[in-house]
Amino acid sequence: MGKDGPKRYFEVRCPLCSERYRQGIKTGKASEEFVEEFEGDIRLVGSDILLQHLIGEHPDRVGISADNAFQ
Ligand SMILES: [Zn+2]
Repeated sequence: MGKDGPKRYFEVRCPLCSERYRQGIKTGKASEEFVEEFEGDIRLVGSDILLQHLIGEHPDRVGISADNAFQ
């Protein structure tokens, strides 16, 4: 997680291809308290983005693909 001026964002990086996904955290005011309070949720969203990427881009590496992951 980080700050870009007044904007807050989190970033996940694919361990296989190093592609980065940066997503802004949309809040009225992304205060320190907000980010701390919702850090677990933010991490969950980041994990989901990474999982979607792994399944979509590296099905051979992770051994799962969109075809067999969601049934
Ligand atoms: Zn990747």
